[in-house]
Amino acid sequence: MVKINRVKLLKLILLLVLTSTTLFSSISILKKAELKKGELRLTFNQAYKKRAITITTLKNPTRKIFDIKNARLQNSSIGSNLNSIHCSSIRVSQFKRDTVRIVLEVDKSYNCQPYRPMLAYSSYHIPLPKFRSVKKSIYSRKPKKTTRVKQIKYKNIPFIVPAKGTNKNTIVIDAGHGGHDPGAVGGRKREKDLVLQISKKLKKELLKRGYRVYMTRSDDRFLELTQRTKIADKKNAIVFISIHANSVPKRKRNRVNGIETYFLSNAKDAKSQRIAARENRSVLKGAGSKLSKEVIVDSVLNGPKIVESNKLAVVVQSRIMTNVHTMYKDVKSNGVKHAGFYVLAGASRPSILIEVGYISHPKERKRLFQSKYQRLISKGIAEGINIYLNNRKKEIEL
Ligand SMILES: [Zn+2]
Repeated sequence: MVKINRVKLLKLILLLVLTSTTLFSSISILKKAELKKGELRLTFNQAYKKRAITITTLKNPTRKIFDIKNARLQNSSIGSNLNSIHCSSIRVSQFKRDTVRIVLEVDKSYNCQPYRPMLAYSSYHIPLPKFRSVKKSIYSRKPKKTTRVKQIKYKNIPFIVPAKGTNKNTIVIDAGHGGHDPGAVGGRKREKDLVLQISKKLKKELLKRGYRVYMTRSDDRFLELTQRTKIADKKNAIVFISIHANSVPKRKRNRVNGIETYFLSNAKDAKSQRIAARENRSVLKGAGSKLSKEVIVDSVLNGPKIVESNKLAVVVQSRIMTNVHTMYKDVKSNGVKHAGFYVLAGASRPSILIEVGYISHPKERKRLFQSKYQRLISKGIAEGINIYLNNRKKEIEL
């Protein structure tokens, strides 16, 4: 009898252990990420394991990385509205299939002490740094009716408090494709060569204007998506510019031409998605099978950068057109569009992708390979970046 009981007891314990492990190891869904009382507050659908969260620190700029294992974002808009005066930026993304990553760009002195509130097993609170900038007065003041408009405007600008030493005005230029990936081809001309030529001219234009410039590639080599965006992260670029050229199938080649600028967004309209698919084909090969499309799209949806990218795209497109029209009256503007280009994934800065023209269009192709034409395009892009950054500076200083 005693023996049987013991066996039963052991079985029961084993069962309990097994159930609790399965309960805990199931995926937690991050339902909410909100800013409240100077804290970033996360709410999961269930209790999570404390040790599922690892915190690491990265330097230049200082970033606190929270990796939450066995977790998923409920949807891509989670964390998309986080724009705090406490941090330079807050990013929430589906880092891996089973890992949610939160990145806080903070001041070096930030002492990070996150906690799980008592009896709230599905919550996780991260107290944000105390806000200690001259800008504080604007915020700590009770909003007066007359200042309200200003505040809203202010709120929409990312990088409100650039961490010390991070705002060196570095711009990263990304010449698309390269190496084994020629990009679009028309009349035996290759996109990879064209975009490199334009990127080099753009670099010169930006250097003239006092910017520091890095190119993701300055010769004919292939780079994976992760390498391209990593360079922008590593150099802590304030702006990321990707240069591409467009093309359409033969039967349409004489009809479709013009210049268009894309800003990072969740690709919704069919045409943007098709172009995104083409641009991403090569990128996806290298991106690793683990990353599903949703994951990549999620990771780029980090809120106000979309607004900033849109602003940048508008002014760049407009300056390109103004410049090319000085000598080439008939160049068509296809305007500013949005697309979920993977090349912009993970971009934590205003990022745009410029399709400088259609390499498939015989007349446009000829121009695209002319130095004179390339210089006008580059000058337009540089002017656009310059105007955008000056505007932003004014807004921040207001
Ligand atoms: Zn391309």
